[in-house]
Amino acid sequence: MIPAGEQEKIEQARRIVQSAAYLVAFTGAGISTPSGIPDFRSKGTGLWERYDPMEVASLTTFRTAPARFWDWKRTLMRQVWQSQPNPAHYALAKLESQARLKAVITQNIDGLHQRAGSQTVLELHGTIETMTCPSCRRQAPSSQYRALIESGDEMPRCKTCGAVMKPDVVLFEESLPPRTWRAAEKHCASADVILVVGSSLEVWPAATLPEFAVSNGARLIIANLSPTFLDGRAEVLLPYNVAETLPLLAGL
Ligand SMILES: [Zn+2]
Repeated sequence: MIPAGEQEKIEQARRIVQSAAYLVAFTGAGISTPSGIPDFRSKGTGLWERYDPMEVASLTTFRTAPARFWDWKRTLMRQVWQSQPNPAHYALAKLESQARLKAVITQNIDGLHQRAGSQTVLELHGTIETMTCPSCRRQAPSSQYRALIESGDEMPRCKTCGAVMKPDVVLFEESLPPRTWRAAEKHCASADVILVVGSSLEVWPAATLPEFAVSNGARLIIANLSPTFLDGRAEVLLPYNVAETLPLLAGL
């Protein structure tokens, strides 16, 4: 709930967003938690208590213990497939359709921005929507394996060579996709307003992008439940449920 008396902050943020010529959104796990996808940095979310994300979501684990990797990954993929975009995702899609928002830069791998209708989505950490064979590089939509992933504990295998498929997500020990990174930097250099949504800005190097935008003169709004290292440079802080605040900023 947005506390009474905080409406002025919402209004202030709405005016900044609605007067932006080049708005860029930077999103993290917090935009998808209202859709039921747990943030692995939050405590008390069952899935993550059974796994150390730094260990299981690593390239080493995929290579040396693929069954363990897939045991974790299939649970996450099932959760994503059962989830729907929430009003915060739709609000960003709306701002893009108004030609105000130029890009969504996201740390999320769940594809919910696209499902809500966003067109320009830069996925810094990749996506679970496709997979690639590490052996022969054959790429396939994850939907081809959906029945297999949802029905049991068999690992998805390449239909050409039989190797265990790897989802196109950036794992620990992997670098960010360079083309996506360059495009994100370009948008951040052009932005006159940067809107951080549901990110505590703790994951490097992704979190340097909003700072880069601010250093290039962008005004900063942060909609996140917990503090971030950039709070002191923000014009407005909105520590409320993003599914409530974002639609107000978009005039929905
Ligand atoms: Zn293959």
